[in-house]
Amino acid sequence: MFNLNQLVRENIKKLKPYSSARDEYSGDAAVFLDANENPFNDPFNRYPDPLQRKLKEKIARIKGAEPKQLFLGNGSDEAIDLLIRVFCEPRESNVVTIDPTYGMYEVCADINNVAVRKVLLTTGFQLDTAGLLNAADENSRLLFLCSPNNPTSNSFKHGDILTIVQNFSGIVVLDEAYIDFSVEASLIPELKNFPNLVILQTFSKAWGLAGIRLGMAFASPEIISLLNKIKYPYNVNSITQQKALEMTDQEFTKNDWVNEILKGREYLINELNKIPVIQRIYPSDANFLLVKVTDTRNVFNYLTDNKVIVRDRSKMNLCEGCLRFTIGSREENRRLIKVLKDM
Ligand SMILES: *Cc1c(COP(=O)(O)O)cnc(C)c1O
Repeated sequence: MFNLNQLVRENIKKLKPYSSARDEYSGDAAVFLDANENPFNDPFNRYPDPLQRKLKEKIARIKGAEPKQLFLGNGSDEAIDLLIRVFCEPRESNVVTIDPTYGMYEVCADINNVAVRKVLLTTGFQLDTAGLLNAADENSRLLFLCSPNNPTSNSFKHGDILTIVQNFSGIVVLDEAYIDFSVEASLIPELKNFPNLVILQTFSKAWGLAGIRLGMAFASPEIISLLNKIKYPYNVNSITQQKALEMTDQEFTKNDWVNEILKGREYLINELNKIPVIQRIYPSDANFLLVKVTDTRNVFNYLTDNKVIVRDRSKMNLCEGCLRFTIGSREENRRLIKVLKDM
């Protein structure tokens, strides 16, 4: 049986969190003289809402979740780091993840001196469910999955993901950074069935807001409370909260962008298929393509010389010879194709 309390580090259970002025009084008052703020330079003189209540209401409505199931952080990266610090005892706990995948799970674990057990995807880039579950032991606190996965660009089968959630005795963190570009639905509706599931999403990709640094974690209210307990008191600044409130009023704009990007993806797949150095384009459920090219380093350098910057993923496991192309604007996509055609 899943027991959240047994997974939380003792020091975090015992922690008395910092209580900010805005934690102690968050109502509407006429005179705020409690936080040593400057009375001038309105509205930036004021500390932001530490729990981002207004923004959470809106996001929760869009995502079909409750505000108490939502944590907001300085990018998804903050949620990744906080999850490790809530659940992983340095030099004792370990985390399990897939390989290849997003690098931040391993970096955050390394920073916290937590061992990482990596399990290779199958050659078809699918989950080795048995391998992942076998890699876990009684010290495995978190298991990171990413779907659609970066850099392989494909989604995993819901059945495989849920098999892992059901059989792993720690917490499964499912990173859905690219879910808006996917034909697969989010697993947020499954949160009510699985108290050991955490889902990460972000404003950095489909919402076009990588610069404001805003990441989301969806989970049980108990897990969300633990993240809130250890976060920096004012982790999401007021400019970020304001900008996100404006953007979430325009979900149609985000949807238009996603549709444009999906068209761009089709265009790039069609055009890349005609180019001789392109050996293989992997099926993508995200806003980027993983592409196998002949003479990878030369193609990469040639693109860079022509001011088209792509990501070299050829050193990653199962990605030999691969570059990663982000889907850009129509002009950017055309430029990439033109430069490759002229090679
Ligand atoms: C881009 C990306 C993110 C986004 O991280 P932020 O800190 O929210 O910008 C998260 N996960 C994956 C797999 C990504 O590729």
